Amino acid sequence: MDISTAYKDNNYKIHVARDILRDRLETYTGRYESVYYIIDENVYDIYKETKLSFIKSPLVVTGGESFKYVSPLMHTMEELLASGIKRNSLIVVIGGGATGDAGGFIASIVLRGVDYIHVPTTLLAHDSAIGGKTAINSEHGKNLIGAFYRPKAVIYDLEFLDSLPESEVLSGFGEVYKHAMLNSPGLFEELVQATSDSIDVSMLPPFIIKGIETKMKIVLEDEHESGSRKFLNLGHTLAHAVEYKYKIPHGQAVMLGIIAALYISNELNGTDFNLDEHIGYMSRHGYPVNLLREMDTGEMMQLMMKDKKNHRNDYISYIVFKDKQTLEVKDINTANLEKILKALKERI
Ligand code: NAD
Ligand code: ZN
Repeated sequence: MDISTAYKDNNYKIHVARDILRDRLETYTGRYESVYYIIDENVYDIYKETKLSFIKSPLVVTGGESFKYVSPLMHTMEELLASGIKRNSLIVVIGGGATGDAGGFIASIVLRGVDYIHVPTTLLAHDSAIGGKTAINSEHGKNLIGAFYRPKAVIYDLEFLDSLPESEVLSGFGEVYKHAMLNSPGLFEELVQATSDSIDVSMLPPFIIKGIETKMKIVLEDEHESGSRKFLNLGHTLAHAVEYKYKIPHGQAVMLGIIAALYISNELNGTDFNLDEHIGYMSRHGYPVNLLREMDTGEMMQLMMKDKKNHRNDYISYIVFKDKQTLEVKDINTANLEKILKALKERI
């Protein structure tokens, strides 16, 4: 399945299917003088003799989040320059969201910008197929240095997902769950039905595609994150604090954050989300829901208040449901929010 972006200009295709990497890449690489591959080392180790055997002399980079720092980035850029990269070269970035973010940032700055293609290899990275955000981390926080820079294409070869560890499947699925909720109650219901016994990655492609389309619709409405794009942060306000404190994968924390957002929506907006169903589903599939019972609400508040994106004076901006289908950004007084989180702890 091919999805085309619908920006005003600089559009690109997102190719999503199994076993498409080599064929699809060939339709792009011929246009360039030279092609450079930046590949997550864990991915390269698994696929170097199979799917990736056609790649000669790749730049194999440190796997995952540890690549999103200036020093490994600089090293890779020096290597690219040493091997003669030109403005008319193509960079192909193969890895999860972290490699995609850092590789995309390299493409945006080396020689003041060369074309790049992202090949996502995790379930979570369906989220970065759209939106054009590239970033690395600072000692002051995650994703604080970066650029908006769109790829020339995204080639999402779903065969890579076969080797994904269980905890990364659960993490990526957190964003699939979020996108289904943002899409419609109907799609969400379908997703829950399809995964009621287990999260089988082979069942997910239709939902991954819907997730990408949902994010695209929201991003198109608001590319620079002043209005509705904030809705993509559903579940993220508490998630960032939980993720930081308990060191669990991002998408797993998002799942816990979604429970909190639904509870807050019920409390403050009178929605009637069935919390027990969500909690039961998540516990059954192995999400660490118990952390919501054990969390230190004071510490969570401190961490949320440090996040300048959502903190202003005595208020925290929280993404909640106004009704079953409509989201809103609600400024919640910090004392009130802490009271609600304490009540949620009792409720779990
Ligand atoms: P990741 O890239 O860190 O990958 C997670 C782990 O899985 C790593 O250890 C990696 O080496 C390994 N891995 C990757 N593919 C594999 C495969 N096919 N088989 C086995 N192991 C594999 O993490 P992620 O969850 O994909 O992405 C998280 C990052 O993405 C964060 O840095 C986040 O900020 C970023 N992100 C960016 C956007 C965006 O719009 N740009 C959106 C969402 C997330
Ligand atoms: Zn997220």
